[in-house]
Amino acid sequence: MNSDLSAYFHIPFCDTKCVYCDFYSIEDRSSQTKFVELLNKEVDLKIKAHPELQGRSLKTIFFGGGTPSLLSPQELSSIVEQIKKYFIISEDVEFTLECNPGTVTLEKLSAYRELGVNRLSFGVQSFNEDELQWLSRIHNADEARTAITLARQAGFENVSLDLMFALPNQTKEKLSYSLDEALALGTDHISAYNLTVEEGTPLNRMVKLGQIGEMQQEEAAELFEMVQSRLADAGYKQYEISNYAKSREKRAHHNLIYWDGFKDYVSFGPSAHEFLGGMRAWNISSLDQYGAMIAENKLPRINSEELSLDKRRTEILFVQLRATGIDLASFKKIFGEDLLAHPELPMLIEEGMVDHIEDYLRLTKKGYRFCDAVVLRLMRN
Ligand code: SF4
Repeated sequence: MNSDLSAYFHIPFCDTKCVYCDFYSIEDRSSQTKFVELLNKEVDLKIKAHPELQGRSLKTIFFGGGTPSLLSPQELSSIVEQIKKYFIISEDVEFTLECNPGTVTLEKLSAYRELGVNRLSFGVQSFNEDELQWLSRIHNADEARTAITLARQAGFENVSLDLMFALPNQTKEKLSYSLDEALALGTDHISAYNLTVEEGTPLNRMVKLGQIGEMQQEEAAELFEMVQSRLADAGYKQYEISNYAKSREKRAHHNLIYWDGFKDYVSFGPSAHEFLGGMRAWNISSLDQYGAMIAENKLPRINSEELSLDKRRTEILFVQLRATGIDLASFKKIFGEDLLAHPELPMLIEEGMVDHIEDYLRLTKKGYRFCDAVVLRLMRN
């Protein structure tokens, strides 16, 4: 078994819930101190249930949420100490913390750096004030610029910034302005997400009530192409549908673990998902119930599943194709199938959707736009 491991920690608090967001988080932070104790106890319980995890080396650590930058340095320190109690933190670890630009100071970022965090991912989303307000972000454009400057001052050499496009009524000019501003900041990595309307969000209700319309697919595709070409011209290489990095080293290695589809990752906190030894498990999406289960010395799991070979094949097609490509040799070894002989493949190559490069099947720049459709065609075996 590969002894390297990745770890995810879900911090379920946000100052204000954004209209489009379906991640599990709550605005009431009164239980934040207690939550850190629960999270640390979950680590104890996990090691008790999986003693084989103890001593494994963490290659990536990711604090997501929610808003992990609401953690005080003292709170983060206690979690880091708990991690060190059971795991070895690899010397070349990628240790990411997601930040909301409205929640950071130089002092706080410097303290995070001291604790070993070496990558910050800022949820900026837009540099247009009206768009930021519409998205219900708690920061303005200037605070986003300042936060990234502070991150550099605090010594971070790996900084990422998230943008969103295909907002209702978003013009090319508005997106172009956000891209200009993002590029001017020179972050090492940029994620650019197409806004999607998720079930159960305020945005979903607004769409259902006809208060706003979703952007048409063709318009969204034009904006996606604009993101692709502007970032490519600025030297960022696309390595996943929504992700662009200035160099291989600055890609999001934690997310690459998810997109590999075979690598182990362990996770903690409400709603967190993990994958260990072929078994997927996920935690309950309620802080109250999470706390109650941990108080009873139970892992706060809501479910787990061992994937059938068929489900596994579909999942590998989805996760590997959207990122670095399908590793054809491994695919053949695991599923006994030569994807190069797939009847759809000649057509997909002719249509310019995929390329066969060095024993990998990769999406082309055009193919990234049609990833789901390409996977559906490859699913028919
Ligand atoms: S800050 Fe992030 S996690 Fe929190 S509600 Fe907004 S998008 Fe969701």
